[in-house]
Amino acid sequence: RAKSEGRGTYRFFEAKMGVEVRERRRLEHDMRHAVARGEMHLVYQPQCDVDSGTVVGFEVLLRWTHPQRGMVSPADFIPIAEESGAILQIGEWVLREACRQAATWANPLSVAVNVSAVQILAPHFVQVVHEVLFQTGLKPERLEIEITETALIRDPGRAQAALRQLKALGLRIAMDDFGTGYSSLSNLRAYPFDKIKIDASFIRDVDANEQAAAIVRSVLGLGRGLGLPILAEGVETEGELRFLADESCHAAQGYLMGRPAAIETFGAHTHPAEGAPATAAA
Ligand code: C2E
Ligand code: MG
Ligand code: MG
Ligand code: MG
Repeated sequence: RAKSEGRGTYRFFEAKMGVEVRERRRLEHDMRHAVARGEMHLVYQPQCDVDSGTVVGFEVLLRWTHPQRGMVSPADFIPIAEESGAILQIGEWVLREACRQAATWANPLSVAVNVSAVQILAPHFVQVVHEVLFQTGLKPERLEIEITETALIRDPGRAQAALRQLKALGLRIAMDDFGTGYSSLSNLRAYPFDKIKIDASFIRDVDANEQAAAIVRSVLGLGRGLGLPILAEGVETEGELRFLADESCHAAQGYLMGRPAAIETFGAHTHPAEGAPATAAA
């Protein structure tokens, strides 16, 4: 226990922790019913070919509207869902919903789904993906799974096996948030990635910041050497996009090309009636 002189501070700290723990338990509890109560929904963000501006696919992002708190950010609730295990149920719902939706699109664009470590390492995950593809009829080559490298650290052997089995189903695997993890380079060798997504933090002001530019150029060089396409995340300005085009980056995603939104927003790409080839909104 705290010594007498530090007691006040200790008590305050303890009380504050208590609030945070209760807060967390509350969210954890509410999350268990969120899917069943229809509080979760998906938004879609376009991924574009840098040269042509064409939309080539969509990343699926989860949204939770809490009945009292309103919108809770996935950055806040995903870590809690991972710890409680609720991510297994929620993640399966995301996957099924995204594949079901994508299977209705006239253009065979790809759909990228974020998958957490807990899911990858769960014993039946590959089976679940297989079932979802079968049930929804989505062609496996249209599904991309995004994972962060931190996902791989906990059990590298098992993660490796799971990724290989997933690839055997015919889908693609992207390394998300590249550059922010512990050992990006060795992970590129150890795991069968099909794409690298450069984290948004390196794209910020890449056209004006020499350090960011040097890092992005080297990642693009790495991609060329490994034969892996590179997607830049978080592209917000014309200047950033121009830099990426000049440096032969393959794909880009960010507020400049489109914010995450309800799928209906992108009717021209995802609906048969509109017909015309997909092009990015300027
Ligand atoms: P992420 O997979 O790296 O997704 C990109 C995040 O950047 C998204 O935040 C997106 O809305 C945001 N973003 C996109 N373009 C821009 C831009 O130009 N500027 C800025 N400032 N931000 C941009 P979001 O939707 O809040 O998601 C945060 C993270 O939560 C995701 O990062 C992902 O790690 C996780 N996440 C979201 N949905 C799911 C899900 O269904 N399952 C799992 N396991 N994780 C998810
Ligand atoms: Mg992602
Ligand atoms: Mg990312
Ligand atoms: Mg992220």
